[in-house]
Amino acid sequence: MIPAILPTYNRAPLSFERGEGSWLWTDDGTRYLDMGAGIAVNALGHAHPALVEALTTQAQALWHVSNLYDIPAQQKLAQMLVDHTFADTAFFTNSGTESCELAIKMARKHWAEKGEPRTTILAFEGAFHGRSSAAIAAAGSEKMTKGFGPLLPGFQQLRWGDHDALTAALTEDVAAVILEPIQGEGGIRPVPDHCLRGLRELCDKTGTLLILDEVQCGMGRTGRLFAHEWAGITPDIMMVAKGIGGGFPLGAVLATEDAAACMTAGTHGSTYGGNPLACAVGAKVIELMTADGFLDRVGQAAGRLRQGLEGLVANHPRIFEEVRGTGLLLGLKCRVPNTDLVAQNYAQHMLTVPAADNVVRLLPPLTITDDEIAAALDRLDKAATALEQAV
Ligand SMILES: *Cc1c(COP(=O)(O)O)cnc(C)c1O
Repeated sequence: MIPAILPTYNRAPLSFERGEGSWLWTDDGTRYLDMGAGIAVNALGHAHPALVEALTTQAQALWHVSNLYDIPAQQKLAQMLVDHTFADTAFFTNSGTESCELAIKMARKHWAEKGEPRTTILAFEGAFHGRSSAAIAAAGSEKMTKGFGPLLPGFQQLRWGDHDALTAALTEDVAAVILEPIQGEGGIRPVPDHCLRGLRELCDKTGTLLILDEVQCGMGRTGRLFAHEWAGITPDIMMVAKGIGGGFPLGAVLATEDAAACMTAGTHGSTYGGNPLACAVGAKVIELMTADGFLDRVGQAAGRLRQGLEGLVANHPRIFEEVRGTGLLLGLKCRVPNTDLVAQNYAQHMLTVPAADNVVRLLPPLTITDDEIAAALDRLDKAATALEQAV
């Protein structure tokens, strides 16, 4: 008999009752160190007092009015995003998938409005942009698309790291290129800064729109507000979600005026997108992340964690191959099945997240302390030792 919940997830037999900072408690009182942060969502940890305050204050005043009316909290959040990024304008969604939908629609409409027949969107193998029909067509993998055809046409996937294929494909007929500056689900695979700069140049030469998917790597995770800032480039359109709501469902599409000018009244919408509850939390998240010293501290924590992980890999060569990623978006490429390590981490009362390419992701709250980093490294060391004894 099919379970009451559609069985699309492989769930660990764990259930949590309460969270605080980097820690979660099960109903029997066992404490787990959360190095997954709800897949890069709880960027400020669990139950951050300022976020709880922002949400409950808004909840007592007003939950929802719809986008038929002005929403001051939405206006405030949009202005903050415009002030702190490349963007001239923002549209609010409830998830990364919805941000992907709008990014793709905007890119195509941009060319339709110009009267140029550009519809092709280039994407990359190993990408993850969400689970809608458009997002799976963009990613193109058999795992995500099998049985869901006919797929939305107009996407072409390029091999990861194949510069020649990219240069050949990126012609003046291409509407947009979509990519994650650091592939998350794909196994923590960063695009080197010089490649991002080269891609920006190619897009400029051909007029192609550059869509960056910063749903996982954005919102402070790399030590800058957005990952592309390290390369010194800006996109035309950017997808945001996950960390921006700190655990409350919120996403956004940020864009330049040129890319977004096609999106006039009636061309897109969302009932919940940008609702007062989500925007009150989002504005507090941005305020805290852009406060003096916050992102520097992320960088320091990241350096400490990475250094510890390099040592771990050196000490357990039969278990680990390498450390990948930047900031607090790190991956351990494993020599044993990654799911074995995730299970051993559970046994050590620590949550980590598997990714493709046999990688285990470490994406803790950005507020993780030095002591918690030490505890994570200690638990990983114990998990690796247990795995060595098992083989
Ligand atoms: C999680 C994720 C998405 C999809 O976001 P949802 O909120 O699950 O719809 C899209 N792109 C990237 C890079 C992601 O990590």
